[in-house]
Amino acid sequence: MTTAQPLDVQPTPLALLLLGREADPKSERGVECPGDLPSPSDPDLVERARAAKEKLGDKVFVLGHHYQRDEVIQFADVTGDSFKLARDAAAKPEAEYIVFCGVHFMAESADILTTDDQKVVLPDLAAGCSMADMATAEQVAECWDVLTEAGVAEQVVPVSYMNSSADIKAFTGKHGGTICTSSNAKRALDWAFEQGEKVLFLPDQHLGRNTAVRDMGLSLDDCVLYNPHKPNGGLTVEELRNAKMILWRGHCSVHGRFSLDSVNDVRERIPGVNVLVHPECKHEVVAAADYVGSTEYIINTLDAAPAGSKWAIGTELNLVRRVANAHPDKEIVFLDKTVCFCSTMNRIDLPHLVWTLESLAEGNLVNQIRVDEETESFAKLALERMLALP
Ligand code: SF4
Repeated sequence: MTTAQPLDVQPTPLALLLLGREADPKSERGVECPGDLPSPSDPDLVERARAAKEKLGDKVFVLGHHYQRDEVIQFADVTGDSFKLARDAAAKPEAEYIVFCGVHFMAESADILTTDDQKVVLPDLAAGCSMADMATAEQVAECWDVLTEAGVAEQVVPVSYMNSSADIKAFTGKHGGTICTSSNAKRALDWAFEQGEKVLFLPDQHLGRNTAVRDMGLSLDDCVLYNPHKPNGGLTVEELRNAKMILWRGHCSVHGRFSLDSVNDVRERIPGVNVLVHPECKHEVVAAADYVGSTEYIINTLDAAPAGSKWAIGTELNLVRRVANAHPDKEIVFLDKTVCFCSTMNRIDLPHLVWTLESLAEGNLVNQIRVDEETESFAKLALERMLALP
């Protein structure tokens, strides 16, 4: 088993400066983000985590999402986005325990794709995802009733982003739809429009809108926004009948922070900068960016960028900081002036990881994430449709 080399858990002052800290202290006031990275845990815990992991040997496989903090990532056997990690876990059937350093929906996906003998563990059960929580099973069932009453449900194919709960994936599978990632969203929409005339895109409105308008040539007028907190989603029957894309009103709290001002500001501050953003960002941000793509695309683009090039990145801070530290020959800055990371993802810290590994090493299974059989079978159907996408 290969284990990632330990990393320095302290961010370098240069990286923090480049990434925005103290660039404009005024703009850091009154925002949700603390304007600083979470402080590293007690270094003694590093030794305890190492010992527990060694004791578990091949029985444990630790998955580290790209947005995790360094002190956790150093113990990951593999790193990646949520779908890659779930597939990596499925390719390791000999690992009895899959410790998912990510958020709840990711652990559910890993449970769906792994064997019944493998137990998926989330080190902190409070590590959720605001976007996934924006679409509940009840709300989506109600939406389907609205579409049925409007006489359009039969023409609608649901497409759900990987960042959704197992319930929503199951709903998607049950209603003939597919899952997508930020890398294959266009292929998923191409497929969906071959199956039906309209798409219900869940739960990230921005990925849905950006893919439809930027990659597929639809217009903004082809898209309507379904608000689960309003009667009939806040839409008239006519609007539903005319729409091609019915976008769920959900978003990522991290990527939703970037604004057109962030783009204009960085272009002014750093002449010649390339703006590279994730498609979970708002449409006006994506439209103003030079490059748009998934987390893997962002990493690969920066790896391949020439020395001396300048980049402003619109995605989660831990990832941007790691890539910036790995490429000191390039100027890589966080797109926003404030320092903002995914706070739920960052609930997985070293103390939680140590507790998990030590518990497992002592034979106590903790924080297991299990998806019930029926949900799993329909969610798997939707995931299999994604895997079969041309
Ligand atoms: S970065 Fe956004 S989509 Fe990803 S886990 Fe955090 S809140 Fe959810």
